[in-house]
Amino acid sequence: MNTIVHSFPERESRDAISIVDVGEESQSCMTNPTNPSPIELRAPRGALVLEIVWDDGLVSTYPHRLLRGFCPCAYCQGHQGPIRWADAATDQDLPILDIDEVGNYALRLGWSDSHTTGIYTFRFLRQLHALTEVPLEEAKKKEFSR
Ligand SMILES: [Zn+2]
Repeated sequence: MNTIVHSFPERESRDAISIVDVGEESQSCMTNPTNPSPIELRAPRGALVLEIVWDDGLVSTYPHRLLRGFCPCAYCQGHQGPIRWADAATDQDLPILDIDEVGNYALRLGWSDSHTTGIYTFRFLRQLHALTEVPLEEAKKKEFSR
């Protein structure tokens, strides 16, 4: 009799704590505004734009030339300094042939000219969103810290 009465409150309090823990964890995961990530990618063949629908409701439409011009890979950008419009970049909208998700943080874009080394972090893509709303000549002057 003594044993049963003693063990009951112990189990109840453990249960209560674990329920609170789970609630807090899933909440912070779903409502973190500093790390938006894509929930949908649309790259219609021939349209030459990449559309990203973000989990906070923003929709970005990137012309291909913008993404290609700001390719963040070491070949396009060198190993130091800000990410800027690559001198070798073309003003043409090349088709994107492949899109791979890299971990939970980036996309790798494979272009029709066989350039496949550009890994675009979600954070960088969100920064590039600002350039989708200005003329290309303005966008080219922008720089991003790595
Ligand atoms: Zn590149």
